[in-house]
Amino acid sequence: MSAIQNYFGRIAKASKSIMIGLGTTWRYFVNYREELVTIQYGSEKYAPQGTFLPARHRGIHYLESEKCIQCNICAKACPVDCIEMEGTRDGDLNGAWQGDKVQISKFIIDLNKCIFCNLCCEPCPKQCIHMGQEFDFASYTRSHGVKNLLTDQPWSESDKEAEGERREQMIVLADIKKKEKAAARAAKKAAADAKKAAEDKDKDKDKS
Ligand code: SF4
Ligand code: SF4
Repeated sequence: MSAIQNYFGRIAKASKSIMIGLGTTWRYFVNYREELVTIQYGSEKYAPQGTFLPARHRGIHYLESEKCIQCNICAKACPVDCIEMEGTRDGDLNGAWQGDKVQISKFIIDLNKCIFCNLCCEPCPKQCIHMGQEFDFASYTRSHGVKNLLTDQPWSESDKEAEGERREQMIVLADIKKKEKAAARAAKKAAADAKKAAEDKDKDKDKS
């Protein structure tokens, strides 16, 4: 092959390669919703399910609080102790979230510590804590890296204040419950004593 043929052959190869590349760009440009490879991050945070992140992606957690029984299994399974929860079964708590037969006052995950291992989700008996598709929980302070799973927002100062108020309510509810249980026990004992006294009286009558 002469030098001139070699020269033009290379130009043809380079042109073909550019056209193939531009063809791919054009295909995604006109069908970008169908064949999504990028999103306008910032204005668009979430690509449609399965187009950008795989379904098994371990993103930021979310909770189906209405199913939660507050068994604490997820928190115990966490290797870095980054889950905290509080709640009560002693009665209605103002401003709490209704779980399954439990009032949930607090359910947070410290994402600063989380290693996204999924060990909290696997043993959940109600399958109600999940690792979702969300990946953006960026902030300027570490305190914003703590997520309130009940509001899907960072754990804020007002959340902390409300938590303190609900904790006081829980102490009152626990006290009421304790007194109710003690009264029920006392009533049961009094009934048993009265029954025994009546039986003893009948026995004495029979003897005489
Ligand atoms: S393991 Fe499931 S049901 Fe139990 S506290 Fe955690 S999220 Fe709730
Ligand atoms: S993903 Fe792992 S580290 Fe993060 S909260 Fe769940 S168990 Fe803990």
